Amino acid sequence: LTSRSTRPDDTIIELPGSDVRIGGNEVIVMAGPCSVESREQILETAHAVKEAGAKVLRGGAFKPRTSPYSFQGLGLKGLEYLAEAREQTGLPIITEVMTVEAVPMVAEYADILQIGARNMQNYGLLQAVGKVKRPVMLKRGISGTIEELLMCAEYIVSSGNNNVLLCERGIRTYETATRNTFDLNAVPVLKQATHLPVVADPSHGTGYRELVPAMARAAVAAGADALIIEVHPDPDNAMSDGRQSLDLNEFARLMDQLRRVAVAI
Ligand code: PEP
Ligand code: MN
Repeated sequence: LTSRSTRPDDTIIELPGSDVRIGGNEVIVMAGPCSVESREQILETAHAVKEAGAKVLRGGAFKPRTSPYSFQGLGLKGLEYLAEAREQTGLPIITEVMTVEAVPMVAEYADILQIGARNMQNYGLLQAVGKVKRPVMLKRGISGTIEELLMCAEYIVSSGNNNVLLCERGIRTYETATRNTFDLNAVPVLKQATHLPVVADPSHGTGYRELVPAMARAAVAAGADALIIEVHPDPDNAMSDGRQSLDLNEFARLMDQLRRVAVAI
């Protein structure tokens, strides 16, 4: 169902209540903090990324942290703050859902449900989001092959939800210079293999904010339909992923650079 051979035309995902279309001619930028940390933090970030040209607001309310003692997210309160940010800015929101039980609650707030890398092969969760009437962004597993990513997307689509976005977020390799190895090959490989929109996440793909603009530009040049970028008003004091988060000015500068990549030479 996800194969290009079954459906030659690109899938275009429209977000109701907005004019955002992902998979069309325009490159869509989703931006916001790794975690929703407070009402002030998400509202300030939402207004700034909107001003810079982002079309979707990201922010995690349920966080899959390596350590159980790290900040786990604000949960329902985080979803409420995201909804308030959407009300103020008009930006649709994308946020992660980690468990089957939380799907109805997160789907009530989110415009796009995010399945994190650690849950790529959580088949019960994939089937649960397959039954929901919201687009789903499926992130590539930390050690997932492109073939496995596509089969996981197949779980969602075969459960009844055609609106799936695929996200390259870097994979684990022997390389230690970066947090993950951003597999830029995945962008054209996926565009060839499937009609689903392809999203690139250079924040998790690199792990270092200095590397994010170059890989964001590269992903757009390679044909990504959308980018998802971590942005924080005070990255050095972020509760998660500060090292890879752009500050508000850095994000605005990146948007100007991206506008130059997206047009002809
Ligand atoms: C995130 O988007 O903040 C996140 C946890 O990403 P991933 O699942 O790719 O690690
Ligand atoms: Mn993150």
